[in-house]
Amino acid sequence: MIADFAWIRPEPGGLYIRPADVWVDPTRAVPRALITHGHADHARSGHGVTMATAATLAIMRERYGNIGLAETMAYGERVAIGGGVHATCLPAGHVLGSAQILFECGGERVIVTGDFKRQPDPTCAPFEIAACDILITEATFGLPVFRHPPIGAEIARLLAAREAAAGRAILVGAYALGKAQRVIAELRVAGYHDPIWLHGAMERMCRLYEAHGVALGDLRSMAGVPKAALEGAIVLCPPSALADRWSRRLPDPLTAMASGWMRVRQRARQRGVELPLIISDHADWDELTATITEIAPRETWITHGREEALLRWCELHQRSARALSLVGYEEGSDEDERA
Ligand SMILES: [Zn+2]
Ligand SMILES: [Zn+2]
Repeated sequence: MIADFAWIRPEPGGLYIRPADVWVDPTRAVPRALITHGHADHARSGHGVTMATAATLAIMRERYGNIGLAETMAYGERVAIGGGVHATCLPAGHVLGSAQILFECGGERVIVTGDFKRQPDPTCAPFEIAACDILITEATFGLPVFRHPPIGAEIARLLAAREAAAGRAILVGAYALGKAQRVIAELRVAGYHDPIWLHGAMERMCRLYEAHGVALGDLRSMAGVPKAALEGAIVLCPPSALADRWSRRLPDPLTAMASGWMRVRQRARQRGVELPLIISDHADWDELTATITEIAPRETWITHGREEALLRWCELHQRSARALSLVGYEEGSDEDERA
């Protein structure tokens, strides 16, 4: 038994579980990696053995092709990973397949949240609260200014803008893994059942979600569709395509963008976004502080984003905390929220 959490260490390349020789979301190729979810800043290829949920492994194969040896971890299944350490994947509510990892060693419990959110999301399993001694939490939106409105309100704004923009296509920039499928699923929840048109870069990930039981309704490919057929249509594309030549094939597009960063008006202006939609797959400030309060760990380690404000909040609330400043997960490195 290794006491005092010496078995889990923040290293420049990620979190390292020493007795098991396992890395969590490592930034370089390692012999054994445990991957929280499929976004590119967490899931890299080239590891000897990749451990992850079935959906995350499927996403990685979709993106990288062959990922070598893989071990599937089911939610809630307690797996011995070597050196007396057990690992359990718990739903993180971030994207399809996303997991928090609960590590147990010598009676000590550490949870690595990976990216997570608490808002409901019809495309993935909801975040699960579990007790632990150390909570290693992400902090992408760890500033009090970041408060995400309920997604239903943002979807209602999108549909109202469509109603008001007769003859125009509504072009929504959304990240291809997670955000796009969530926007589609929430449009369906809101009663919008018209075809939704997809940029080519979105199609395969949407099909992967559907293959994992997430119904997305009538999705159509843009290939070969005449411009006039897209009047009043909702079209999804990756954020990078919002401003490029590709969008000229749409009739007078009204550009929208779904991202937590749309809270910052300057970011929307920089991108030329007419309709900023504050839709994030990360916990906002209230969700971060509520989660720390609810789990009430002995210690909170903060990483992956705005560490200082959350650290200060922990101090003010007499909670022991430290900032990890892991390399490779700086603010803005997040695939799904890069804006
Ligand atoms: Zn992510
Ligand atoms: Zn991330």
